[in-house]
Amino acid sequence: MSKNRPEPKPGILNIAAYVPGKSAAPAGIKTAKLSSNESPLGPSRSAVDALGALNNNLHEYPDASASQLRQAIADTHGLNADNIICGNGSDDLLSMLANAYLGPGDEAIHTEHGFLYYPIVIGAAGAKAVIAKEKDCQADVDAILACVSEKTRIVFLANPNNPTGTYLPNSQVRRLHEALPRDVLLVIDAAYAEYVQRNDYESGLELVSNNENVVMTRTFSKIHGLASLRIGWAYAPAHIIDALNRIRGPFNVNSAAIAAGTAAIADTAHVQNCVIHNNEWLPWVSEQLEKIGLKVTPSVGNFILIHFPGEKYSADAADNLLTSKGYILRAVTGYGFPNALRMTIGTEEENQSVVEILTMFMKGSNS
Ligand SMILES: *Cc1c(COP(=O)(O)O)cnc(C)c1O
Repeated sequence: MSKNRPEPKPGILNIAAYVPGKSAAPAGIKTAKLSSNESPLGPSRSAVDALGALNNNLHEYPDASASQLRQAIADTHGLNADNIICGNGSDDLLSMLANAYLGPGDEAIHTEHGFLYYPIVIGAAGAKAVIAKEKDCQADVDAILACVSEKTRIVFLANPNNPTGTYLPNSQVRRLHEALPRDVLLVIDAAYAEYVQRNDYESGLELVSNNENVVMTRTFSKIHGLASLRIGWAYAPAHIIDALNRIRGPFNVNSAAIAAGTAAIADTAHVQNCVIHNNEWLPWVSEQLEKIGLKVTPSVGNFILIHFPGEKYSADAADNLLTSKGYILRAVTGYGFPNALRMTIGTEEENQSVVEILTMFMKGSNS
């Protein structure tokens, strides 16, 4: 029987649409947006200059292979540009990976508090998301392995993870990879890799180089401060690059993104400044909040997950107070944390103000 209007394929209407961090505060108040893990230091000056130089070629399509950008990424990281593919944000690449390797009847695994775009791309490809429990807000390799079945095609692992800020050391990622069947793709989403200051961390470059079933994704949205331009990249074995190129939108990375991204990735001094800023303020904010009785999950990223003690001091009430003063944090109920907020490490002034407001809040004088 024919239906009276088009319907999406099975599963699409079961997907919960992604809800971005809010950005609005009451009218007239200067806002500090600490809800989307954007860089408080903004982009490299040379990236902004590269955008200014674009001006008279707006009628031309971008280079469909983004070769200049891929080469710049390859040069900075010491990789072969043939093993790099760029996307309209790393979200674009995650979606391509799901579309290329998942279909109805397949399963893909992500962790309990993993990045919420994974279930979306899995569902959109017609496959089933299988959720592996975490331990103390950390991915648990044994729990992930226990979820592997004959139907498993992809494991999505954010390392470090958002919104928890925790990471798996290299030894654990290797253990996970070694125990996976060789026809299961391990996608390591290393959106925050640059911020991690741990000797036992590896972003995934090494695993990709030595295996046929690992992909690492990275982004210009976080440390490079270019979220508005939507630039992501993946490092992958040739056969995976080939598959993705067959389904990639021909001009998925625009000319502004190519120009600014090329300049940004070469500006390692700016990246280093961002790391230094984060190294200073991540521990400071975490310690100050612990001092006033809040629990902060130990983070290696540019954000922290703040847990509130309960009814009297709820995340909701804290969120309302912060918002009324122009500080926008991220509610994370959708991530399974109804009584927590995620805060991006901001500028010195922003960090101090949030600590001040939350100190007042915890003293019970919510005004
Ligand atoms: C921010 C983020 C991304 C990046 O997305 P883009 O599409 O590149 O902006 C990817 N994965 C995780 C875990 C993130 O937090």
